[in-house]
Amino acid sequence: MKKTTGFDRSKTRGWHPATQAVRGGTWRSEHGETSEALFLTSGYTYDSAEEVAARFAGEAPGMTYSRLQNPTVAMLEERIALMEGAEACRAQATGMAAMTTALLCQLSAGDHIVAGKAAFGSCRWLVDSLCPRFGIETTVVDGRDNDAWEKAIRPNTKVFFFETPANPTMDIVDMKRVCALAKAHGITTVVDNAFATAVLQRPLEFGADVVAYSATKLMDGQGRVLAGAVCGSEKFINDVLLPFQRNTGPNLSPFNAWVVLKGLETLDLRARRQSENALAVGKFVESRVPRILHPGLASHPQHNLAMSQMEACGPIFSFVLEDRAQAMAMLNALELVDISNNIGDAVSLCCHPASTTHYSVSAEARADMGVVEGMLRINVGLEDPRDVIADLDQALTKVGL
Ligand SMILES: *Cc1c(COP(=O)(O)O)cnc(C)c1O
Repeated sequence: MKKTTGFDRSKTRGWHPATQAVRGGTWRSEHGETSEALFLTSGYTYDSAEEVAARFAGEAPGMTYSRLQNPTVAMLEERIALMEGAEACRAQATGMAAMTTALLCQLSAGDHIVAGKAAFGSCRWLVDSLCPRFGIETTVVDGRDNDAWEKAIRPNTKVFFFETPANPTMDIVDMKRVCALAKAHGITTVVDNAFATAVLQRPLEFGADVVAYSATKLMDGQGRVLAGAVCGSEKFINDVLLPFQRNTGPNLSPFNAWVVLKGLETLDLRARRQSENALAVGKFVESRVPRILHPGLASHPQHNLAMSQMEACGPIFSFVLEDRAQAMAMLNALELVDISNNIGDAVSLCCHPASTTHYSVSAEARADMGVVEGMLRINVGLEDPRDVIADLDQALTKVGL
């Protein structure tokens, strides 16, 4: 295959993320197709026995098996790396495969990890339940509290792990401060950037070492496939992550990689428009509910910090009603917005985190992170925000708000 733009880093490095999202990593076959080719193949054939031996020995370029390399997946990895400003990226089957790989590839029994307490339910499960089973010590801290991160450091602390904004409480971590603290102690920072993506927030620019994704969310953005990715330095990806990934196999399928490649083409447009829509909807909701957690609104206690790290607020926010009964009644009254626990989708979706995304987290952990029974989380899509507001208006009225 002829390598065209995208793999020549010297030409593409300076492009802005929106350009990378459309062109970065494009690798055309001899047919010169405009749309990225889908290489639905598990293996490869070789011209000679010596050729395959040389490839396995790393002495000749070329692919050997799709758990190790695949052209369509490689295009996606290159595109995500270029958007992120990262040296390298590897794609995984799901966001949770990405988080598990990003953590376990670098941790061993006896190591210590510090994690932000507000996190997606399965991310909390990795920290609370999986790591301790393998002898990895864990501490969860209030990610908003810079001193708490510092106090939690032990001689064996290897990793800081957090989301910002966090799912679903929209807590913000001061990336510059927390990443600098980690660096000073030789700790690797892993940031789950699913709520923002590189279009809205680039953690590496704030000193993060590793950025991990659920590409299921804004990157696909149309509710079609599960996917994940981990970005970092070439050294981290090649020496630390790849030996783990190649031998344990959490790989992304070429078909799903192709779907996400097409999703990335419109990511910049969608992320910005959905952020605008979420701001308009948030302003309306704020006027009607007891409490709202929205990084784009001045009422968010960390609004200034959020906006200093993000180009726009993103499509997701949460709000708190009286109790579970009222929250459930509001969900049931929705006519346009769907009840769904997905996010980042082009359609507006609303869910009750305590009984869905955070059901697997213990009641104590839920209370500790602020996932209260009356909380609802909304993903604002690409509909005209006036229609979303009208729907929320009638549903709030039905539940007496
Ligand atoms: C959804 C999500 C994940 C998990 O991603 P999957 O693709 O569903 O496995 C991890 N972190 C955050 C913040 C998420 O929102």
